[in-house]
Amino acid sequence: MSDTLQTNLERATAYLERFKANPIGHFINGQFTLGQDGTAYDNLTPTDNSSLGQVIAGSVADVDAACEAAENAAEAWADMPGAQRRALLHKFADELERRADEIALVESMDCGQPIRFMKQAAVRGAANFRFFADKAAEAQNGLALHQAEHTNYTIREPIGPVGIITPWNTPFMLSTWKIAPALAAGCTVVHKPAELTPLSAFILAEIAEKVLPAGVWNMVNGFGETVGKRLTEHPAIKAVALVGESATGSHIMRQGAATLKRMHFELGGKNPVIVFDDADFDRALDAVVFMLYSLNGQRCTSSSRLLIQKGIKAKFIAALEARVANLRVGHSLDPNTEVGPLVATEHFNKVISYFDIAQQDGAKTAVGGYRITEPTGEYSAQGNYVCPTLFTEATNDMRIAQEEIFGPVLTAIGFETEEEAIALANDTIYGLAGYIWTENTGRAMRMGRKVKAGMLWVNSENNRNLPSPFGGMKMSGIGRDGGDWSFDFYMETKNVCVAHGTHRVPTLGK
Ligand code: NAD
Repeated sequence: MSDTLQTNLERATAYLERFKANPIGHFINGQFTLGQDGTAYDNLTPTDNSSLGQVIAGSVADVDAACEAAENAAEAWADMPGAQRRALLHKFADELERRADEIALVESMDCGQPIRFMKQAAVRGAANFRFFADKAAEAQNGLALHQAEHTNYTIREPIGPVGIITPWNTPFMLSTWKIAPALAAGCTVVHKPAELTPLSAFILAEIAEKVLPAGVWNMVNGFGETVGKRLTEHPAIKAVALVGESATGSHIMRQGAATLKRMHFELGGKNPVIVFDDADFDRALDAVVFMLYSLNGQRCTSSSRLLIQKGIKAKFIAALEARVANLRVGHSLDPNTEVGPLVATEHFNKVISYFDIAQQDGAKTAVGGYRITEPTGEYSAQGNYVCPTLFTEATNDMRIAQEEIFGPVLTAIGFETEEEAIALANDTIYGLAGYIWTENTGRAMRMGRKVKAGMLWVNSENNRNLPSPFGGMKMSGIGRDGGDWSFDFYMETKNVCVAHGTHRVPTLGK
């Protein structure tokens, strides 16, 4: 069947039928349940704000049951030979690939991300499961450290049950990034998906039911202030991995303080893309457009601040204006759509509030700056559609340059020297990602040292390599994901010191 909006809608409707027919609840100890004392709410699609079905927001009792299940399953899962864990995680990846079409369509309707970017989501999620599956067998290996009369060796062991809390922007991908390494390390999991986008997490739980022992993967739907709070306070949970806003990270740190939880935070960003006069103009232009407007600008690593050098500024901005004005906004299931609807009305209102803020601050609205209300047949007036927007003539102290808007809105700021570019890049509370465009290798290396961000790309858009570290500095996060960095987080390192029997033990009281 060829991909058109109509065929995609028909296929999505078929997959979504069951969510409309019955409310979705939680997955606890291998069982789907509606839980205890939960309250139902409607899960709306941003395409037209109609309901995709009801979700039961869990209670403290549901979280307690999930944490208990994760705790009871922890020892057997940790002790399972790595080769066996590897086989199960590969089976999980097989199921992701088998359900790739369903995952893409359901996710696109649930969070509004264009289907063109969601099509590969399950394949990438499966690749991540396979990558960590293959590492499961060696995850506990440590080092041998020799002394004259002792040998020390280190082993790593899973930290225990972990809480995984995910946001709504690319819910499926982010859940799989977090959960695959936790399972490979030998941890059991309680997952709290974002309240706005629960559907792909439900599909993941269905795969867990089929593939994993009961209690290894648990999932509780609901709100941050009840389910999220209890999860981060529960004594059985040894570590919390959050992807979300910086303010949420602060809350969780406070909530987990009493039980001294280990924390890993992937938080917000206001990432600079720095384009120097000597950059490869066309590739830089492609990357600037892609890294902000793809995924609706709802991407933590989006380059939402363009720092553009004076010599090419006028030409680059003119070319950028033409490209932004040409972006195709539409229904998330339309294969032609480049920018879809924003996830929910509240977030949509936040994004459009910056149109007035930009004017008040004195920036120029070069493109967009309004919501799209007129239905054109391809998308509904009821959906959360916003015109891709470009602010120019901005300065770095403006709110549009400092605050994470998290929508298809780019702020362009001029600069003259390398030193000024570094100062502007670092003048923000965030430090997640940065992009540098220059043909001058020495300058690229200098920028690589000076720009304060956890991840920098030189002459590239965001390219994710699974073994490389992923994470931010400053208010953008704590800790790194990817490869062995993930295992460091999900595991305890234990040192065992063994005497060779040749040294004299100090004697007391003889
Ligand atoms: P959010 O912080 O509002 O919510 C994230 C999750 O935290 C949700 O599941 C929410 O229910 C939960 N939560 C909220 N309050 C809580 C509390 N007190 N205790 C426990 N859990 C709580 O974030 P969002 O609006 O869903 O997502 C957008 C944000 O995520 C943006 O700031 C974006 O930059 C960030 N993000 C970061 C990365 C990264 O890798 N750095 C990736 C994607 C998104």
